[in-house]
Amino acid sequence: MVLKTIVPSRVPGVRIPHSPQNKNPSEWKGFVIFTRALNTWIKKLNKHTMQENTFMGHPKGLYILFFTELWERFSFYGMRAILVLYLTAKTDVTNPGMGLSNTSALELYGWYTMLVYVMSVPGGLLADRFLGQKKAVMLGGVLLSIGHLILALDSIYSFYTGIVLIILGVGALKPNISTMVGGLYKRGESGRDTAFTIFYIGINIGAFSAPLLVGYLGEVINWHYGFGLAGIGMIIGLLVYIWGQKYLEGVGDFIPTVRDENSKEAVPLTGIEKDRMVVLLLSFVVVIVFWGAYEQAGGLMNLYAKEKIDRMVGSFEVPASFLQALHAFYVIVIGAPIAWFWVKWRKKGLESSSLFKMGVGTIITSLGFILLAAAAVQVTDSLDGKASIYWMLGAYLLHVIGELSISPVALSFITKLAPAKYASFMMGAYFFASGIGNKIAGLVGEAAQNAGEHAIFIGVFIFCFAFGALLLVFVKKLNKLTHGADDVVPAE
Ligand code: GLN
Repeated sequence: MVLKTIVPSRVPGVRIPHSPQNKNPSEWKGFVIFTRALNTWIKKLNKHTMQENTFMGHPKGLYILFFTELWERFSFYGMRAILVLYLTAKTDVTNPGMGLSNTSALELYGWYTMLVYVMSVPGGLLADRFLGQKKAVMLGGVLLSIGHLILALDSIYSFYTGIVLIILGVGALKPNISTMVGGLYKRGESGRDTAFTIFYIGINIGAFSAPLLVGYLGEVINWHYGFGLAGIGMIIGLLVYIWGQKYLEGVGDFIPTVRDENSKEAVPLTGIEKDRMVVLLLSFVVVIVFWGAYEQAGGLMNLYAKEKIDRMVGSFEVPASFLQALHAFYVIVIGAPIAWFWVKWRKKGLESSSLFKMGVGTIITSLGFILLAAAAVQVTDSLDGKASIYWMLGAYLLHVIGELSISPVALSFITKLAPAKYASFMMGAYFFASGIGNKIAGLVGEAAQNAGEHAIFIGVFIFCFAFGALLLVFVKKLNKLTHGADDVVPAE
């Protein structure tokens, strides 16, 4: 609770009985001294309360959401890492799988990765209309824990039941926990963008460690132990969330829709709110373009690394799958410096709106594809038909710099612009857009099979560069549609 300081009436010409204006000068002096002392005391008290509820400059609730999402992503990426391998593993070996063909397994995988993000839309609506984000996250956590544990059982029925529960669970948890991060900050408060980067680093700690741990346990020892470990991860996340409820007071509660007194209809959006919705929907186009380029990593670039990149470092051959952990590794290492860079940039008074960052991020991501195109040239020119791994290390680094200027920024942007009653729905729509980006990435990868990698890498570079540049050209006009919601209000 924040106590308000006492301000003596400053309305000119208004004389209030018992106000200081009615007192003689000595009484007035005494009153001023008294209110000053009271104000200092209230300020001290507020500062103390705020310090108690913050840690390293951010509300403690942020760290609760950080660890909950870290473990949720641990379970998600851990399970994802072994899913296709489990589906395609033969049925008559020591660690038997489901014996599906590559095509069927990839098809199932494609449906799964698309549905988890598509379900974010009903997941968001569930929070906006009925539960509020806080309860929806709890529900998602419970569904995910049960879903993962069911996968630990070895039967075809448990497999499909588990998958369905996980899809529903991610849909309920993912958009709503992201909205809750925004809910920890007041409108215009400066820490919000940085908070999303911190949250994003948590996501990537889970994403980085899970394929290594769950992957090893599942692939080398037993698939179902791997699924079980993912489940244990989610249970830890849920316990952190339950324990941390005390730090989430007033965040993510259900907000009933305001109804018009006369017509009993829900109050329509104002002109400003409509403008903000328009600019948000336009920003989702950036999201689609970005993920469409970036998510080549799991498909086309994964195969490219396996077949055409010289992965020998000394006498050790880096497995192609290790490169899959590289994005998350980079996010953990450079997430904080990039956030720091943007804060400094803003403090210098330079253009630092969310859309500007997204435009810059798209251009930086596009530059990564030049490095990949150079690798493709080396593949054709070299005797062994292989390119150096450094092209890929550099390309992924540029992609992650782009990601950090787009993905956490977009999450924060949504929480600033979406009207409260659509907050979670818009977050769900964001994940839906990123799902479409993933699908497009798959299609681009397929196109490379005929057009050749070099042509595709150059094509992606030109498209993303031009798109990012176009966004920068229109950034000022688009920013007007936010009606100041993206501005940082200087601290008092
Ligand atoms: N890698 C991020 C996560 O898992 C972003 C995913 C996305 O928006 N598609 O949360």
